[in-house]
Amino acid sequence: MKKIECDIYRDLFPNYIKDKISDTTKKFVDNHLNECTSCKSIMITLICIINSLIIKSTSYYPIKNNHSTFG
Ligand SMILES: [Zn+2]
Repeated sequence: MKKIECDIYRDLFPNYIKDKISDTTKKFVDNHLNECTSCKSIMITLICIINSLIIKSTSYYPIKNNHSTFG
């Protein structure tokens, strides 16, 4: 079940990931993420999206290339 509180936190997520919020706000978000699994999964998804955008925009740099046989 989604709480109104969650909406408030989710609005902060992009800035949280970009490190554009104050330490105090960050602690509030951290606390909420520890309690709220649905917000946590949204946060993880956001981080993945943002990371993939960063990788795309810097694709000419060699990205860590593991030669281990994965999978
Ligand atoms: Zn939540």
